[in-house]
Amino acid sequence: MTLTKKHVFTLAIIFIIALGAISIASAYTGTGFSHNIPSSKYSDLSASDILSKYSDTECHVEERAVCTKVVDGDTIYLDNGEKVRFVGVNTPERGVEGYIASKNFVQKLCLNKEVGLDIDDSKHNDKYGRTLAVVIVDGKNVNEMLLKEGLAEIMYMPPSEFYPYNWANSDTHVADSHSSSSSSSSSSDTSHSSSSSSGSYVGNANTGKFHVSSCSSVSKMSEGNKVFFSNRNDAVNQGYVPCKRCNP
Ligand SMILES: [Zn+2]
Repeated sequence: MTLTKKHVFTLAIIFIIALGAISIASAYTGTGFSHNIPSSKYSDLSASDILSKYSDTECHVEERAVCTKVVDGDTIYLDNGEKVRFVGVNTPERGVEGYIASKNFVQKLCLNKEVGLDIDDSKHNDKYGRTLAVVIVDGKNVNEMLLKEGLAEIMYMPPSEFYPYNWANSDTHVADSHSSSSSSSSSSDTSHSSSSSSGSYVGNANTGKFHVSSCSSVSKMSEGNKVFFSNRNDAVNQGYVPCKRCNP
């Protein structure tokens, strides 16, 4: 009797530990930030210098407020009392290399300015009560910029409306030498689809959303981000989520 109970108890404990390990492993699959970015990297640049390197996001602004404080590279306060955690990304904590660079970057873009939020529809808040959102400044996705600048690592914790791997791979960084944006350089595994047939569904490799081809978002999408699907299932199977406007 007691022996059986003991066994069951032990097994239960092992099971719980294993579950915990698996969930941690699957949640934190970071690409890693570059810890050696000098804290002065952006000091000579204005916010508009930085913003001008990026094209507009397809994320929708659902709320606007003024950023009153920057805690670190992924957490800010708004004048409506809200505390916002940049969804899908993780920046270095205080005391870790890269902390200052990412904090300075967000201060430069957000502090004392009106920012827009696209709140994560799949999960509005984290366990600390912070609003999970994409922060949008001047039409640009700051979460994505943090990844592209090497100031943040990916932190994908499903369920989430947003798929940060698409931000990291996308071609919206219009800066630098290679201006050509050769249509298929990124997002590799979509080779089957492609331009010619111009399917009835159009995905955005940047946002991870897909649309009917007549959706207004499609006309605003940069060519390099378009992924064509001939049917809805293909889009869903590749991890794209339906646009809330056009309901494909
Ligand atoms: Zn749409």
